[in-house]
Amino acid sequence: MDDRDWVHAALATLARESARSADTHLYKLEFAGFPGIDFYFKDEAAHPTGSLKHRLARSLFLYALCNGRLRQGQAVVDASSGSTAIAEAWFARLLHLPFIAVMPRCTAPAKIRDVEALGGTCDLVDDPADVHDRAAWHSARGACHLDQFGLAERATDWRGNNNIAESIIGQLALEPHPQPAWIVCGAGTGGTSATVGRYLRYQRLPTRLCVADPIGSAFARGWPARDYTATSICPTVIEGIGRPRVEPGFLFDVVDAVVEVEDPLSLAAMDLLCHLLGRRYGGSSGTNFAACLALAAHMRNAGHTGSIVSLLCDRGERYEETLFNATWRQQRGIDVTPWTQALRRCLADGSWNAPSPLS
Ligand SMILES: *Cc1c(COP(=O)(O)O)cnc(C)c1O
Repeated sequence: MDDRDWVHAALATLARESARSADTHLYKLEFAGFPGIDFYFKDEAAHPTGSLKHRLARSLFLYALCNGRLRQGQAVVDASSGSTAIAEAWFARLLHLPFIAVMPRCTAPAKIRDVEALGGTCDLVDDPADVHDRAAWHSARGACHLDQFGLAERATDWRGNNNIAESIIGQLALEPHPQPAWIVCGAGTGGTSATVGRYLRYQRLPTRLCVADPIGSAFARGWPARDYTATSICPTVIEGIGRPRVEPGFLFDVVDAVVEVEDPLSLAAMDLLCHLLGRRYGGSSGTNFAACLALAAHMRNAGHTGSIVSLLCDRGERYEETLFNATWRQQRGIDVTPWTQALRRCLADGSWNAPSPLS
């Protein structure tokens, strides 16, 4: 097949995949401690590849194809903490392309198995900071670098095309507070926060955007002074967010607040989400939930009502052997008990014992 014909066929394949796909649910939760404040969680784990990275992987393949960077039979490579690699492996298989995922060796084993089950190859590096160099190494040998960290922010259509923000705002249309006070998301590539932040302005909405990040991570440290050289000062067990460096796709200017969340609090919130929704979601969903409660407490104290929307980023089953495993937690000295108690109290009476995120 001629190159251009193959590109057209590949784009048609992606359009058919998109037409077969359904949108993700927006769940509503209400808590006794927060009268007049409605919480919504968008179930991004429901995508065929189990995370919000399904949207990104589709966009990255479209971007590579429409830029003429991806050809028939060419290998595809990307650096990933796992979720993106799984989604990219899925799309690569759809397009009959070989796929290489460069991942930190400490990535949850279930994610590595998922990539391999989809026909991808995992190239594991010891130091998570080395993933970018390793992906560049593969690309110098002819692979097409999808480059989620470099391109997430521009590969997604921020004005519409049912991007995640447009989908959320549409789903809220009949709710008591259809224009949320806050949308809360994490920052891994920065793609989600960039898309949401731009869309809110474009649609002239009053909604503010909050990034929930593990304490001491690069986004949280760099945001106050717009410092693009910031690096993380604490490692985190939360995969997908808490980046060690400020990624090229981090747009500080569209973010109105950053809430930093301790890992044990993220895990306690992750456990609680499982209890409330009857389904498991990953650590970054817990980080988001904790940040929602911090913002809600602030709203409650100010006498405000309204809605807060956040994301359930990926499936909890991926962390069966890690975050959800009691022995694994013990070995790392992670005790969530006091945090779980504080969260339960918070849901019941609106009390938030952590410092105010917005002072
Ligand atoms: C990528 C990712 C995020 C952050 O989303 P970005 O759009 O990349 O900033 C959050 N949680 C999980 C599980 C992820 O994989």
